[in-house]
Amino acid sequence: MADASGILAELVAALPEGVVVSSPETLEKYRFDWTHDATAGMPLAAVRAQDAGQVQETLRWATRHAVPVVPRGAGTGLSGGALAIDGGIVLSTERMRAVEVDLASRVAVAEPGALNVDVKRAAAEHGLWYPPDPSSYEICSIGGNIATNAGGLCCVKYGVTADYVLGLDVVLADGTLVTLGGKRVKDVAGLPLLRLFVGSEGTLGVVTRAVLRLVPAQHPRATVVATFPTVAAAAAAVVDLGRTVRASMVELMDRASLNAVEDFRPMGLDREAGAMLVIQSDAPGGARADEVSAAVTACERAGAKEVFATDDPDEGELFVQARRLHFTALESRGAVLPEDVGVPVPQLPALLAAVEEIAQRYAVQVPVVAHAGDGNTHPAIVYSAGDEDAEHRARFAFDAIMVAAIELGGTITGEHGVGRLKTASLQLQLGPEVMDLTRRVKAAVDPLGILNPGAGF
Ligand SMILES: Cc1cc2nc3c(=O)[nH]c(=O)nc-3n(C[C@H](O)[C@H](O)[C@H](O)COP(=O)(O)OP(=O)(O)OC[C@H]3O[C@@H](n4cnc5c(N)ncnc54)[C@H](O)[C@@H]3O)c2cc1C
Repeated sequence: MADASGILAELVAALPEGVVVSSPETLEKYRFDWTHDATAGMPLAAVRAQDAGQVQETLRWATRHAVPVVPRGAGTGLSGGALAIDGGIVLSTERMRAVEVDLASRVAVAEPGALNVDVKRAAAEHGLWYPPDPSSYEICSIGGNIATNAGGLCCVKYGVTADYVLGLDVVLADGTLVTLGGKRVKDVAGLPLLRLFVGSEGTLGVVTRAVLRLVPAQHPRATVVATFPTVAAAAAAVVDLGRTVRASMVELMDRASLNAVEDFRPMGLDREAGAMLVIQSDAPGGARADEVSAAVTACERAGAKEVFATDDPDEGELFVQARRLHFTALESRGAVLPEDVGVPVPQLPALLAAVEEIAQRYAVQVPVVAHAGDGNTHPAIVYSAGDEDAEHRARFAFDAIMVAAIELGGTITGEHGVGRLKTASLQLQLGPEVMDLTRRVKAAVDPLGILNPGAGF
């Protein structure tokens, strides 16, 4: 068998100049995702593919030499799914960014490296809308969104990425390109393989093209902002609200996250509030006022300190911005272990209580924001980087929060994926039979196990 540099020379020769990069300084940029996790390996090279053919060429080569491949979009993942592997290849789609809108079919056809915001902008030029909106929508790629089945702020009404994927081109581990689905809204021919790839975290194939459903532009939004004396009261309002209103956004920030954002960028948020809810309605015509009124009532009934409603989009957007800033604000305070646990909505108060108890038990700070209307919460464990004891306690708290979610009938991840940071807890949620089925599917699609080993399950 040839040595690593001999093997790599074969790949370099097979691809156009500049596609394969291997200098240590350049590779540094491809080793980490947003977790900055220290376990990231040093890859042999990064391939910056320009088209599906180059992705196929890379995977044929990787199969020939049994080299592990980590697919990579924009590297904003929060679960370590795109962390590099020692001696492997990072296959980046950052140069594949084309987006075309087919107005008549009401779809966008996007290459995987296109950012979520690129698709939104292209759709908006035609009076259309691509709803999936992770907080990172300006910096994350469509390929990464599909691989993680990304969610976001308007999922509570409009669903997640999977609800908008009509078609995919996927390159399998051996280099075969398969086309699944297409520009058709309905299609039940064959096994539903398209869905298998959405959320598969780069472990089954590399997405090289996506057909995405677009919808008519969103109606103007009205915003209700309510502050509560406690997180429990805010959570109770969310449960109550969900019974009657189909809001287009129901986001929660607890006191610690309000203060973190206020410290980072003063916006006049209520530092004393136990929690704040930001609720939006985009219902058409008079229905919007009805939804706003129902939201105000639910908040007041749950004991809100203050409630105000506005039809002014800019005023509403200020509060949404505060919510979107949360993660960046925490990162300025120290190392962050981001959770993504979710529960059935009625269990939201119990989950938030459990997070508070765990934060006390391990003496760690755990500010919480939540896509509360979905029951999907983001407790974020903040600790001093380099403080070994604090890091241990943070890791215990990280695991304990996932256990608490599972015990409440929930999940260890609602939208970020399992990545490399949550694989140990996955077994607890899925059980041995489902884990075994998962491995059998993986073995059938990627028999050598070269695609993103160690991630996803
Ligand atoms: C500030 C901030 C806020 C965020 N808010 C949200 C949020 O509200 N909702 C949410 O869901 N996420 C959120 N995220 C997480 C992240 O942005 C999403 O998981 C996003 O979908 C990752 O996209 P990416 O292009 O950065 O993927 P990467 O991080 O590059 O990769 C993520 C995973 O996808 C795989 N992958 C990437 N491209 C492909 C491909 N073409 N084919 C196959 N597999 C591929 C990788 O192997 C990896 O497993 C947030 C992140 C940040 C930093």
